[in-house]
Amino acid sequence: MSYLDKTIIEINKALKEGKTTPKELFEQSIERAKKYQNKYNSFVTITDKYEEKEYNFNNKLAGIPCAIKDNFSTKGIRTTGSSNILDNYVPVFDATAVKKLKENQINIVGKTVLDELAMGGTGTTGYTGVVKNPYDITRQAGGSSGGSAAAVASGIVPFALGSDTGDSVRKPASLCGLVGFKPTWGRISRFGLFPFAPSLDHVAYFTRSVEDSAVILESLAGQDYNDYTSSNKKVEKYYENLNKDLKGKKLVVIKEIIDSVYDNKVIACFNKSLDELEKCGAVIEYQSVDEKLLKAIYPTYMVISCAEATSNNANLDGIKFGNRQDGASIDEVMFNTRTKGFGEFIKRRFVLGSYALAKQNQEKLFLRAQKVRRLIVEKVNDLLKEYDAIVLPASGDVAPRFDSQSEKLSDNYLIAENHLAIANFAGLPSITIPMGKKEGLPIGINITGRLFDEQTTLNIAYALESKLGYKNMMGGNK
Ligand code: GLN
Repeated sequence: MSYLDKTIIEINKALKEGKTTPKELFEQSIERAKKYQNKYNSFVTITDKYEEKEYNFNNKLAGIPCAIKDNFSTKGIRTTGSSNILDNYVPVFDATAVKKLKENQINIVGKTVLDELAMGGTGTTGYTGVVKNPYDITRQAGGSSGGSAAAVASGIVPFALGSDTGDSVRKPASLCGLVGFKPTWGRISRFGLFPFAPSLDHVAYFTRSVEDSAVILESLAGQDYNDYTSSNKKVEKYYENLNKDLKGKKLVVIKEIIDSVYDNKVIACFNKSLDELEKCGAVIEYQSVDEKLLKAIYPTYMVISCAEATSNNANLDGIKFGNRQDGASIDEVMFNTRTKGFGEFIKRRFVLGSYALAKQNQEKLFLRAQKVRRLIVEKVNDLLKEYDAIVLPASGDVAPRFDSQSEKLSDNYLIAENHLAIANFAGLPSITIPMGKKEGLPIGINITGRLFDEQTTLNIAYALESKLGYKNMMGGNK
């Protein structure tokens, strides 16, 4: 037995009682990271350096090992974004989220694999190879924060940092049996997180319990003068205020999204979850949203995110930093650097984004997508005037196999596998937790709350987790 198999709250108790030490946890974590690297490929970099310090275990995060997605700047630790173009990039500063974790005496064990520059949902496009699902290595861990998900689900760390632009934490959380949380846009500073599409980007993270998720939010949230979009709203006592009593809470299920979920087991687990939520006192109702709007989520997301991505990644040219290629002129250097440095999937996205931003197309594509985004956000905010949260299956099925040939443009797929992006369009707090298993593989449920109402969102998840008992889940053989 290792205390690494426990939740943060439990580890903290063991640390206080002297049953384990931060050094022992760190060493066990590194040992597992190395041992599983061939199997799951969670890490780009494993950091061997441990520095002894005076720990204060009244802080629940003190001495806890954690992993960081490799698109957060870490001072002195190579940060690649899982892109060849940044293969040799060592940042000179820490992202605010990383800085805050360090202030809370967390120990970083490594940087995790992502889909290249966070643009993907499979965990297969990072330049150091494919991430595998700890529940079944013939399947995807999901993405883009796949390495972080696999590290937590395989018991290497009890918590890992990720980022979520469309669903990149909440979807892999579903596929790997984890709690994945993205709070309100602006709740956590994005300073030092590589921008993909800043109007949609969120700092997010994986844990194996809702309590742990609440503890981490307290340490990461807050205003930051390095990110002027970070909110000055007071940081609440999310952990202390966790409450399983949902009396008076009204939840809504979007009918057309449920109708698009094709897997019977997912539906059965979801219905059971709704029953449990009712037992906790919540009232659940179904409401309709125009199917046209729901089918528009994916194209709208692609146009906006690719447009922002092409502009935000223009700095990756090999001139100031990164993996520079030779060339006879500065133009040729940039051309060769980008040609060699980027993988084919993100090149396609840059083409798409540049096309949408081209003067002659802007009105028809980019501005139109902004308008559709607005319509979706208005519809969801209308629902949230009446309801405290939206509950839905996080995914239509379990983790796909690497060779799966799903029909990505079918109406069902478009809706069931892309609706999590609604919370990015609207900046809403949104959490995925496990709600069951199908043939041993995890299935997740998603809860999306009102702006800055992290507490209610966490409380609903907390109540449901305690009823269902899917807590501290791990896959694989440790
Ligand atoms: N899967 C989505 C995409 O391909 C989301 C990515 C993300 O949230 N970073 O872009």
